[in-house]
Amino acid sequence: MLQRKDCILFFVLLLLCAGCGGSRKKETSGQMSVYDGNLCFTEDGVVYQNPNPGSVTGYFDYKTGTYIPLCAKSNCLHDSIECQAVYLKGYADYIGRIGDKWYYHVAEWQEEEGGFHSCDLDGGNDKILGSFPCSNGTGVILFYDQMCVLATWDVEFDEDAGEVAGNTSGIYGYHLDTGEWEALCPEKETENGPAYELCGKYGENLFYSEWEGKISVLKQMNLETGEVKKPFGDTFLSSVQAADNFLLCRLAEPGGNRLIEWNLETGEQKEFPENGVHMFWSEDLKVATNFSQDFSDRRFWAYQYQEDGTCELIRQGELDEVFRPVAKSGSLLLGQMWGKNGGFTILACMEQEDYLAGKTNWTIVTEEK
Ligand SMILES: [Zn+2]
Repeated sequence: MLQRKDCILFFVLLLLCAGCGGSRKKETSGQMSVYDGNLCFTEDGVVYQNPNPGSVTGYFDYKTGTYIPLCAKSNCLHDSIECQAVYLKGYADYIGRIGDKWYYHVAEWQEEEGGFHSCDLDGGNDKILGSFPCSNGTGVILFYDQMCVLATWDVEFDEDAGEVAGNTSGIYGYHLDTGEWEALCPEKETENGPAYELCGKYGENLFYSEWEGKISVLKQMNLETGEVKKPFGDTFLSSVQAADNFLLCRLAEPGGNRLIEWNLETGEQKEFPENGVHMFWSEDLKVATNFSQDFSDRRFWAYQYQEDGTCELIRQGELDEVFRPVAKSGSLLLGQMWGKNGGFTILACMEQEDYLAGKTNWTIVTEEK
């Protein structure tokens, strides 16, 4: 239904603002983390649930440039389920950071019911927090202010008929401090696929797409008042991605797809030409990476969007030389590369300046086993 978003960044500034804003708000650590795919983006680094065989869940720290398994045991070989980094890779559906704790969800926790855990930043001191029986759906998963906000998707299977009876999904806020949860968007049933995809949060506004029977539309909910708007009316939203203070929306219109950058801080909307499938979007680096359709010719092209909206080809080459940016900290870019097992399974980092100059002097963060 919706294109899976390839990358997402975090809204750090708005959280800092939320912390010093209205008096009714809870104390905030000033941090928010965003889980997307098998990566969790925090202010200080990135957690990677490395899908490669024999690999574990690890953490890349921007400041030190180091990548370490999330395991507190000294002299651990990280090769048995007793190791927290192995356990997290095998059992955590999603993970996020608030303050000095990781929070994660395990699908089959107790009596086949899912639940949340927390642990220290080094993986130690694991604690059970409470149950949350829904499965995670599509889009990003947000962790902030002792809350985990996510879209859920549960498929009901009719054992007698031997077929799928329906799909249920909602958007929920799970209170990590009390173990309670609340529906932010009402649970909906669909015949095929999930009804919601969570995009991100900016200030008090939550952005998500909602299936309305025939099309998906963008919705904006004010979390303080519960008011819901449709920023693009009933236009079909084919994909949406949040990054920094932008929402990058692909609107499917009769004349073709339109790529709209919506600056949530200024309200300004700009249209850009479509030039790739993987987008990385930040204030000073806007890149689209495209790949050849023909699998015998496995090439890529990376374009940088200029201020005037035009595109400039900055990199091209064979698929195993692609570095597609997923996060940025200062001048350092973290990117994904094509692994020998297939898929973008290798993490690497390089300086933005070198990336823009077409250099290949990246440093591999996660080696494949
Ligand atoms: Zn270990």
